[in-house]
Amino acid sequence: MGVACKLSCGHCSYHQNVFLGIGFRYIDLDSILEWYEEEEGRQRIKEFRGDQKTTFHCYDGLYVCPECNYLLNHVYLHMQSETKSYTNRYICPRCNTKMPTEPLLEEIKSGVLDCPDCKQEKLVVAFYMDWD
Ligand SMILES: [Zn+2]
Ligand SMILES: [Zn+2]
Repeated sequence: MGVACKLSCGHCSYHQNVFLGIGFRYIDLDSILEWYEEEEGRQRIKEFRGDQKTTFHCYDGLYVCPECNYLLNHVYLHMQSETKSYTNRYICPRCNTKMPTEPLLEEIKSGVLDCPDCKQEKLVVAFYMDWD
């Protein structure tokens, strides 16, 4: 089950709702393929799901841009078989920098993340519901 939380800045008007963790449609590759949108990733899922030895991680996380601190709430997908591996990657929509390979998940709490807009304060994180 995942959690939803609200990020907000005490200095400027920045706020964003983010969804983190694993939903019920994240538990096998067939289910993931039903909602996964990005075309390259879809092709790779089809490749990997035919392989009995495939293991994977899939969850919603928060990518932090190393250049501009932009926060991107997106799905992380990593698949591994005996012969190949695949990890999805994102580009920062604000400055076109490559986002980190893995998003944050556990580290999302008040006082840790810099505000991506004003960069003056750490964001406040408030959990408001569970989702699945
Ligand atoms: Zn701010
Ligand atoms: Zn950026």
